[in-house]
Amino acid sequence: MNDSLHESAASPAQISYQHLGFGITCIDTLLHRPGLACCYLIEHEGMAGFIDTGTNNSIPILLEVLRRKGISRERVAYIMPTHVHLDHAGGCGGLMQEFPNAELLVHPRGARHLIDPARLVQGSLKVYGPADLADKFGELLPVASDRVREMPDESELDFNGRKLLFLDTPGHARHHYCLYDELSQGVFTGDSFGASYPELNSGRARFIFPPSTPVQFDPPVWIATLDRLMSFKPSRIFVTHFGMHEEVDVLGEQLKRGIKDYADTALEFVAAENREERICQAILQASINYLLDQHCGLDVPAIKQLIQLDMELNAKGLEHWLVTQES
Ligand SMILES: [Zn+2]
Repeated sequence: MNDSLHESAASPAQISYQHLGFGITCIDTLLHRPGLACCYLIEHEGMAGFIDTGTNNSIPILLEVLRRKGISRERVAYIMPTHVHLDHAGGCGGLMQEFPNAELLVHPRGARHLIDPARLVQGSLKVYGPADLADKFGELLPVASDRVREMPDESELDFNGRKLLFLDTPGHARHHYCLYDELSQGVFTGDSFGASYPELNSGRARFIFPPSTPVQFDPPVWIATLDRLMSFKPSRIFVTHFGMHEEVDVLGEQLKRGIKDYADTALEFVAAENREERICQAILQASINYLLDQHCGLDVPAIKQLIQLDMELNAKGLEHWLVTQES
């Protein structure tokens, strides 16, 4: 018998997932558009877990992927949100209701927000507004505290014989961890290793940018985080926006430059009128110029379609960072 709360699955035609090897599946969580946000299903010797969850609206997709792969809900042992932003952790509460044996593994700074999501909802309302929050992210459900385990820096998880190492990775958010997976020599990076859309990686060079989302963007701390992640010499990274990337050194160096450029751009407009808007235009234009210069194969409207929303959110985060610098 199945009394699931989430039987109204997204239409099967929309569901998109990709096997990446090493028992890792990348699942499109279909936030805003296909190809913007994903999460990862990891399987090992009969055990299953999710790294990031998408939003509450993504839950039917995850359940459908499990069904198609013949994985019972009882076998899901862990839900591992890299941080508590809603595009990564919005589905935690709902999923925990679907998986009776699952434990929620969270950064120590994020745990209380998933146990009692009231503050998270409030903060998200400021970033997204009420209409978008309800429509795009859905309701946030609390998780019973006895099913939540905090994972401090360098905690290890024995995932049925597969070692996962949790690393505290501030810079994008102070409640962010990454997971180093020994088997794939890969890191599940959430937003700590930036965002890089496959559609914009077809030119001469790679395109990666720092999601400077409100409210904890911290340039020097983030750069130190990247140095630490790169010191593991990962062969691949699994980013939430979007998918697996293997040119880790190139992307890491480019992302470090991007973080510095973002901070410089924000500071350039520190005394300007309408500075959030000016910052938004500046970082959007810089990205477009770079992509055209690299022969990315897309025209300006197509590029805007892919990154405009990100740049608006990034400008919001940079504006907030400027305010914190001033106080
Ligand atoms: Zn994100």
